[in-house]
Amino acid sequence: MVANSRVRRKKYHISKRAGQLSPSGIRKFFDLLATMEGVISLGVGEPDYATPWHITEAAIQSLEKGQTMYTSNLGMPELRQELARHLQAEYGLKYDPATELLITVGVSEALDLSMRAMLDPGDEVIMPDPCYVSYEPCVILPGGKTVAVATREEDNFELSAVEVEARITDRTRAILLGYPANPTGAVMSRDKMAEVAAVARRHGLVVVSDEIYARLVYGVEHTCVAALPGMKENTILLGGFSKAYAMTGWRIGYAAAPREIIAAMTKIHQYTMMCAPTMSQVAAIEALRSGDGSAAEMVEDYNRRRLVMVKGLREIGLPCFEPRGAFYAFPSVERTGLTSEEFAERLLTEEKVAVVPGSAFGQCGEGHVRCCYATSMADIEEALTRMRRFVNRHRRS
Ligand code: PLP
Repeated sequence: MVANSRVRRKKYHISKRAGQLSPSGIRKFFDLLATMEGVISLGVGEPDYATPWHITEAAIQSLEKGQTMYTSNLGMPELRQELARHLQAEYGLKYDPATELLITVGVSEALDLSMRAMLDPGDEVIMPDPCYVSYEPCVILPGGKTVAVATREEDNFELSAVEVEARITDRTRAILLGYPANPTGAVMSRDKMAEVAAVARRHGLVVVSDEIYARLVYGVEHTCVAALPGMKENTILLGGFSKAYAMTGWRIGYAAAPREIIAAMTKIHQYTMMCAPTMSQVAAIEALRSGDGSAAEMVEDYNRRRLVMVKGLREIGLPCFEPRGAFYAFPSVERTGLTSEEFAERLLTEEKVAVVPGSAFGQCGEGHVRCCYATSMADIEEALTRMRRFVNRHRRS
């Protein structure tokens, strides 16, 4: 018996800011994908490797020893020491482990903290379009406003310092960068980065630099913004372990910044997170001490897959920008006459290949789809075969 089937749903109050966020364009596809069988996913932006065993083992040993308590809010002193050593060795940057480094729950938390520490309602943050899906929500939640600066394929998706400067107002608080870039795979050259840094210094703005893909570059160098002359004092450097060491599930990252900023971020972190997971901090120490070899092997493998993916997409007739970093290809799908969302939806339902529509990353992502090549070579090849069939069916002319 179905009694009273029209149950009246209770209305809950949802804050304007939470209500304002649109659901992630990536999640929508994962939900659809989860209901289907035989799908090849080029959608998820994470390594297909398990974490190198020596890293996992270090964490297991710490658990066996009963190392299961909270750590200092800032993170374990040994980890901060190790991170300071790493940043000095990698970029010549000297950070004080006691005051200028904060261990966080992934770059995700570090990003959120940096915005909450700096922004008051109405403050503006300049960022590239397209960009990683979390940047806008992290600005909106503390009441900030995003100011998107278009980046274009013909400019290698690099951010133009002139265009950034033109968008600065008296409410601008920061420039948020993410290179090597998700979703384009673009790497910004040292010269172009230095031009943007010069604008930030001239206007007294902080650069929040998400360098989670720093180690994933192919034949080009990664420029650490904080290491540019005069930039350490003007940069919040965000870094992580998820991508380079295949540690997405461990939820661990960090922020390196001037002490006043770290102090403000730490206040929020101590009330909301307390500390990053203890076992993950132990794993991160091991990654920094002995993880270089396994990270380099994975990068070599990504590079092989990158070459196959980009060549394959171009042969299918989808023009593809040459990605030099991260693990994404960002081909144009305009020739099919489909929007990026139509392309992704129909490719999934007709050929069971999951890609992410470029529009999920901002208006300027329209006309492209993001294909993650951190998946097996066999899957990449099969995905390309299916995509070829799809593109042949949907070719406009
Ligand atoms: N920043 C970028 C550009 C990303 O692509 C991702 C994950 O995809 C993150 C940050 C999140 O990193 P984490 O796993 O360290 O929170």
